[in-house]
Amino acid sequence: MELLFPAACAACGESLAGAPTPWFCATCWNRVGELSGPVCHQCGEFLSSATVETVPDWRCGACIQTPPPFAIARVMGGYDGVCGCMVRLLKYREKTALAGHLVRRIDLAAVPSGFWDVDLIVPVPLHASRLRQRGFNQSARVAAALAARLGVPLAVEALWRTVDTPSQVGMRRRQRLRNVARAFSVPEAERVEGKNILLVDDVITTGATLNACARALRRAGAIRVHAWAVARQAIR
Ligand SMILES: [Zn+2]
Ligand SMILES: [Zn+2]
Repeated sequence: MELLFPAACAACGESLAGAPTPWFCATCWNRVGELSGPVCHQCGEFLSSATVETVPDWRCGACIQTPPPFAIARVMGGYDGVCGCMVRLLKYREKTALAGHLVRRIDLAAVPSGFWDVDLIVPVPLHASRLRQRGFNQSARVAAALAARLGVPLAVEALWRTVDTPSQVGMRRRQRLRNVARAFSVPEAERVEGKNILLVDDVITTGATLNACARALRRAGAIRVHAWAVARQAIR
């Protein structure tokens, strides 16, 4: 009940009196999107190395060794903070309005230039059975809010999840990669062919899901894929 009708900030527990949203206090809400510090230019992974800031478009070792199928990926913030709270809240049906609130809070200038120049927004899909179970796709809600803010068409069904990958919790990285590698397909290639696509997810963990989705879109003829998620969960 507390999670559905919170009397306190979902991130810090402070009172919500005078809060800018029904979920977070002003302090936490203002912290959203304030992500700073070095990231890999391509995958957006948070980095601690100081070398990054001195080299423009610096890419991490993983991206250099095995270039990802997407051009650039970025998140709003780390899973540990307010962004992680938002990811958890988005899974509740009653939180419909949260997607709109968080999308309005995105600092559009905080990503590399050209990042939002896309023809189509595509959410990472849920498998049909999971969609039936939950009743909605939280990533599609974020994608819809983002499409409205950017004025870009949304294609919720451009990408299908054809394999219901089991819960990733407790699985090793290699297992996860194998699990999702072939889980996605594009039923009508003409919808994505020749397009620049923005792929939207709620959370990036290993990046395996993004890779599999981006690969499926590229195989179907998409020119370029950018990826955006609410939060990143560090596992490396
Ligand atoms: Zn708070
Ligand atoms: Zn990288």
